Amino acid sequence: MGGSIVLFGPPGAGKGTQADAIVLATGKPQISTGDMLRAALAEGTELGLEAKKYMEAGELVPDDVIIGLIRERLKSQDAINGVLFDGFPRTIPQAEALAEIAEVSMVISIQVPDEAIVERIVGRRMDPETGEIYHIKFKPAPSEISSRLIQRKDDNEDAVRTRLSAYHSQTSPLAEWYLQRGILKSVNGNQAMGDVQEEISLLLV
Ligand code: AMP
Repeated sequence: MGGSIVLFGPPGAGKGTQADAIVLATGKPQISTGDMLRAALAEGTELGLEAKKYMEAGELVPDDVIIGLIRERLKSQDAINGVLFDGFPRTIPQAEALAEIAEVSMVISIQVPDEAIVERIVGRRMDPETGEIYHIKFKPAPSEISSRLIQRKDDNEDAVRTRLSAYHSQTSPLAEWYLQRGILKSVNGNQAMGDVQEEISLLLV
C-alpha cells in the first residue's frame, strides 16, 4: 500500500501495541509524536522543556510545535514510501497541515469506550530496559522484572481524564473529517489484543 497510515483512537486504545504489528506487516516506520516528545523531554532539549507542562497535565502540545516536529521527521529517507503515524494528527489544523505534506491512504480508528480506558491507562507499566508495556491486571510482568517497571507520569487518573476530554473535544472530530474523505476504517478496540490485530490485518491486504 502506498502512502501513509494514521492510527487513530483515544489514549489507551492500544495504538502503540498495534503499531508494532503494522510496522512488521507494512515495513513503514512508526512515527509516534508522544514517543518523540518523551525522548526530547528525557534529553532535556528546548522542545522537551516546552512540551513538558502540557504533557504532564494531559493537555495537547500546541499545533505549531507538533507540525514542526513532523515536518522535520518526514524529511528522513525512511519516510519516502509512507509512514505509520501513531498519536498524530490530533487536531483538525494538524490534519490540514499533514494533508499538505504527505499522502494519507488510510486512517485506522481503534474504538474503545471511555469506561475501559481509565482502567487500562492507570494500570499501565513500562519496562524501561525493553520498552515493553505491561498492565497490572491484564498483562502482568514476570516477577523478576516487576521491581524495575515504571509508570508514565501522565498515566494517573487526573491526567487521564484531561487527556480523554482533550480527545473528545479536539481529536475525535477528525474521525468525521477523514470519513468525509473516504479513508476512515474502524476496528473494535475493546477486545483481546490479538483480535484487534486480526481486524487490522484484514484492512492491510
Ligand atoms: P501519547 O503518547 O500519544 O499519549 O502522547 C502523550 C502526550 O504527548 C499527549 O497527552 C500530549 O500532551 C502530547 N502529544 C503527543 N502527540 C501529540 C499531538 N499530535 N498533538 C498534541 N499533543 C501531542
